Amino acid sequence: MIRMQQYSGTLLAVCIVLMFTIQSCTQMDKKDNPVKGSNAPYAMVIHGGAGTLLKDKMTEQQKTDYIKALNAALDIGERILADGGTSLDAVENTIRYMEDSPLFNAGKGAVFTNAGTNEMDASIMIGSDLQAGAIGGVGRIKNPISGARAVLEHSEHVMMVGIGAETFAERQNVTLVDSSYFFTQRRWDSLQRIKNKETTELSESDDLDKKHGTVGAVALDKEGNIVAGTSTGGMTNKRYNRIGDSPIIGAGTYANNKTCGVSCTGHGEFFIRYAVAHDISSVMEYTGASVVEAGDLVINNKLKDIGATGGAIILDNKGNVAMPFNTSGMYRGYTKPGERVVKIFED
Ligand code: ASP
Repeated sequence: MIRMQQYSGTLLAVCIVLMFTIQSCTQMDKKDNPVKGSNAPYAMVIHGGAGTLLKDKMTEQQKTDYIKALNAALDIGERILADGGTSLDAVENTIRYMEDSPLFNAGKGAVFTNAGTNEMDASIMIGSDLQAGAIGGVGRIKNPISGARAVLEHSEHVMMVGIGAETFAERQNVTLVDSSYFFTQRRWDSLQRIKNKETTELSESDDLDKKHGTVGAVALDKEGNIVAGTSTGGMTNKRYNRIGDSPIIGAGTYANNKTCGVSCTGHGEFFIRYAVAHDISSVMEYTGASVVEAGDLVINNKLKDIGATGGAIILDNKGNVAMPFNTSGMYRGYTKPGERVVKIFED
């Protein structure tokens, strides 16, 4: 009888401890991943570069082509997320689509270096455990974002560059192509125009040719995980194996489930020195600012004040989106259940 009482007493104690553990775990989950669960909302935001995009210099056909490509890219990520796929797959596949399009300065449409080659940079980061992968200065990886993912998933490193990165990617079955794959007449002509004018002043449209078209994506999946990725050909006419902000974690790309995911585009040197992507996340973490407030503070105030041109896409763990830029335009868009926005200029 006494043993029976002792037994039910122990059972009761175990049950109470279990109840408390389950409750506090649920609270922790809610705090870290407020939208966790299979029916939680998902969201995806993308950019195709910011720059001196002049509304009246763009033909209707060009506008239509970009809007179409941005929508098609969003469709890819949305399908994956709606089916319960991961934000990692959504970001990689959406960026792959944009890399395959000659419209954007990434993958197929990458700009040329001063030497007439293509050197591409890319990075990807997971917000749940802050794992990241990046590659810089690669010339033969068809989809640099997949090279970055291979570094994330199959190495103990965060960043690889040049031939080493290509060798590693090939060993991980990432597709390599001959460097001639990246030739596009439009980008070649831009290089020639910029080189011819090197000694004179560059016009606004030369500037446009020089630094816009980088692509980026941030996704929130139904499990509440945020992933951010960025891919670029860098800046036209770059020399000396220059690497920009896009493959640098904390500068061009950052993701943290506690705050947000960020992908940047713009004048890379400033984005590196001001650790822009991480700065946006930190503003949210330390001040409780929203995505809109943090983006506005960093892109439209801090960077604008020092003449650093560019923009960012930001997505938080509840699906809130911000797409700030301090240039005349940024190819951008987002999608979430029942909502889709795609824009180039301010309105
Ligand atoms: N941030 C890129 C770089 O500096 C260029 C861009 O986003 O347009 O390489």
